[in-house]
Amino acid sequence: MVKAENVRKSFGKLQVLKGVSLEVKQGEVVVIIGPSGSGKSTFLRCINHLESIDSGNVIFDGQPVGFKQLANGKVMPVKGKELCQLRSRIGMVFQRFNLFPHMTALGNVMEGPVTVLGKSKEEARHLAEELLAKVGLADKAESFPSQLSGGQQQRVAIARALAMKPKLMLFDEPTSALDPELVGEVLSVIKNLASEGMTMIIVTHEMGFAREVADRVVFMDEGKIIETGTPEQIFTTPRHPRTREFLSSVL
Ligand code: ADP
Ligand code: MG
Repeated sequence: MVKAENVRKSFGKLQVLKGVSLEVKQGEVVVIIGPSGSGKSTFLRCINHLESIDSGNVIFDGQPVGFKQLANGKVMPVKGKELCQLRSRIGMVFQRFNLFPHMTALGNVMEGPVTVLGKSKEEARHLAEELLAKVGLADKAESFPSQLSGGQQQRVAIARALAMKPKLMLFDEPTSALDPELVGEVLSVIKNLASEGMTMIIVTHEMGFAREVADRVVFMDEGKIIETGTPEQIFTTPRHPRTREFLSSVL
């Protein structure tokens, strides 16, 4: 589903990704852990081309992200509508919920299908209601973001991403802006998605959750993948000293 090969990215003189390679198969749940500033968010943003990469490759669903090959073999950047279409197949949920404040929960979830996918309002409403029910918010359809708790807003954000029928979901610390008592409701929605076979890459500091939901855990530090393994392996017998050091600081 996703293949990143030797991805490099700098901001000015700061090299943030120093050759990151990661393959994620359909239906797989990969959790990325690592210290703040290690490049986790940047890496996620490179996967859906919110950031362009300096070198390497990102292939999503068989296509290079951000580029297309013409009949004559030339490689061209993908822009505008085509880029929108690519992004519509990759759902992203951020630490901050980024809901449209002037729209109800229902309106937020309907927006993408109507404006990007060209669905009728009827159809989009039907889908949005279904998705709000799925994340446990059937009764909040008419509420505005300001009337919802952080956990509820984040669940609307997840429903909104799902409304685009993505093939891949990216989560960037989806619970780190939440009060502790609201973390569980968001994690359980993500766990449900995992059990339904959604392909996901999740950056999180919730180690218990990582252990439970991940097929594979990736430890990143200073712009590199240091170690990859099953949750069991990483959390009980980490091989690399930096992984051990990080885990002992967060567990
Ligand atoms: P993480 O998500 O692991 O905390 P990030 O990917 O957010 O790490 O950031 C990695 C490094 O890149 C940090 O030093 C951060 O300050 C820097 N960085 C991230 N985005 C930008 C940007 N748009 N411009 C300049 N520096 C950035
Ligand atoms: Mg981050």
